[in-house]
Amino acid sequence: MNKKVTEQQLQEWIEHVKPFTRLGKVPDYIPALAKQDPEHIAVSVFHLDGECVRAGYVDHLFTLQSISKVIALALALMDQGEDYVFSKVGMEPTGDPFHSIAKLETSNPSKPLNPMINAGALAVTNMIEGESPTDKVGKLLSFVHELAGDNTIGIDTEVASSEFETAHLNRALCYYMKQNGIIEGSVEELLDVYTKQCSIAVNIQQLARIGAVFANEGRDLQSGRQIIPKHLARICKTFMVTCGMYDASGSFAIRVGIPAKSGVSGAIMGCVKDVGGIAVVGPSLDEKGNSVVGMQLLEMLSSRLELSIF
Ligand code: GLU
Repeated sequence: MNKKVTEQQLQEWIEHVKPFTRLGKVPDYIPALAKQDPEHIAVSVFHLDGECVRAGYVDHLFTLQSISKVIALALALMDQGEDYVFSKVGMEPTGDPFHSIAKLETSNPSKPLNPMINAGALAVTNMIEGESPTDKVGKLLSFVHELAGDNTIGIDTEVASSEFETAHLNRALCYYMKQNGIIEGSVEELLDVYTKQCSIAVNIQQLARIGAVFANEGRDLQSGRQIIPKHLARICKTFMVTCGMYDASGSFAIRVGIPAKSGVSGAIMGCVKDVGGIAVVGPSLDEKGNSVVGMQLLEMLSSRLELSIF
């Protein structure tokens, strides 16, 4: 079947879901994110053949937030190898909120359960090689440039500093893990890198293009160059399926059925083998932290194009 939609169809779907923004709310635990407009909705599908369809606020920039966890994981796996990464971070879903500290205390060994919760993501970012925080942020940014095929992407410094100043829970997670030997070095420097990583700002097409590289087994769409080794891209996609949508990953697998990662900016990046990358954004979040309209748009796309991998 033809797994393509038109921009007009996408625009109609946006109009259809727009009223549902009021069922959720824009997050306010990071003050700069509280200023987002819930009607800044956009959707894009970046096909493996290079065609990109998009609709809505296509020029609007939003931050990656937790979607960056997939990207940092790929980089840490490339830097340190699977054995080292998984000696510090587990592979199991939690069912707890993304910033929960509870399982760090009760699980044995005492390591974060997976790289998609904040504790695991902080441990992963701590593994990225670099001489200094600036060096590590530069490395993350260059990696995003490669994945998106666009070196104009930068950091939203207002979001980064707002997040850094209010990252009390993330600081607590770091100190807990430092005590248990999961992370090493300066917590403040790690938070500096992590909050900047979360504040990388993209538009909807750039995000869909990143998803397309994961869909393409880690290969660049144009040159075919292997940016991420295939087996490591597969590990990232598996985590997206099991824990990419916070503690709604199970229902998402049933309703949509594609590897996807959500962020508190209201963005979701998905990838579908042989099809491409999908990105949606809508800043109003449901009680689990996922974009209300983003979920609806993905459900519509999945059912219309028969995207479920199950
Ligand atoms: N920067 C956010 C935090 O650490 C990311 C959370 C998210 O998108 O789930 O709180």
